[in-house]
Amino acid sequence: MSERTGCMVAIDGPAGAGKSTVARAVARRAGCTYIDTGAMYRAVAYRALLDGLQVGSDDRAIGELAGTLTFEFRDSDGGDHLFVDGEDVEGPIRTPEIGNLSSSVSTIPAVREHLVAAQRRMAETRSVVMEGRDIGTVVFPDALLKVFLTASAEERARRRYEQLIAGGEDVSFERVLANQRERDERDSSRAIAPLRRAEDAVEVNSDGMSVEQVIDRVVELLERRLEERDEQGA
Ligand code: C5P
Repeated sequence: MSERTGCMVAIDGPAGAGKSTVARAVARRAGCTYIDTGAMYRAVAYRALLDGLQVGSDDRAIGELAGTLTFEFRDSDGGDHLFVDGEDVEGPIRTPEIGNLSSSVSTIPAVREHLVAAQRRMAETRSVVMEGRDIGTVVFPDALLKVFLTASAEERARRRYEQLIAGGEDVSFERVLANQRERDERDSSRAIAPLRRAEDAVEVNSDGMSVEQVIDRVVELLERRLEERDEQGA
């Protein structure tokens, strides 16, 4: 099923919709590289925090920082980890605090410019399944298949809560839900590249579906899109 380069599947949607699990599995089945763009925004937030930079007063410096970082996804510990300037940041970027901070950092135009450019470069040499908030609308408007993956707010918060608890975090469900609402609100209302469904994206609501069912649905959509394209002789 694999192409040589470009974006085969763009998966966008709100926090906790299951994008990562689905995108990773679809990439494996399609023989593509999986790219988690949220991890890149989280990494900028993490590095800004380490450098003592604050959103609002240090936006210019955070934008510059985003342009100096090198991002690489590598297999590590049985999963794809993001390495920033050679450092495995997978652990520190997954906390709720960094999740929240990353949605503020991602409103800075220069941060988005640098990360979008880095994301496009990643698909120059290989075919990718990329997930985020603006992949189908901004990063790859010509992606072969665009999926907008959603689920109800409670369902999404419940999944994220279970993930965090399993990872040893000490959080309450209410806090996870409140945090998610805040992030959804900020991601959907920001001036640049707000979270929204691309007109030609297929919306998949995963409420009541198992992960396997969602993966099968996306793979089926991709196979159909590939067939259509072959029929058109493109
Ligand atoms: O996907 P994840 O929840 O890890 O993303 C963290 C934050 O990064 C999101 O809340 C969003 O603000 C930002 N983001 C973005 N554009 C993307 C991916 C993530 O603005 N393509």
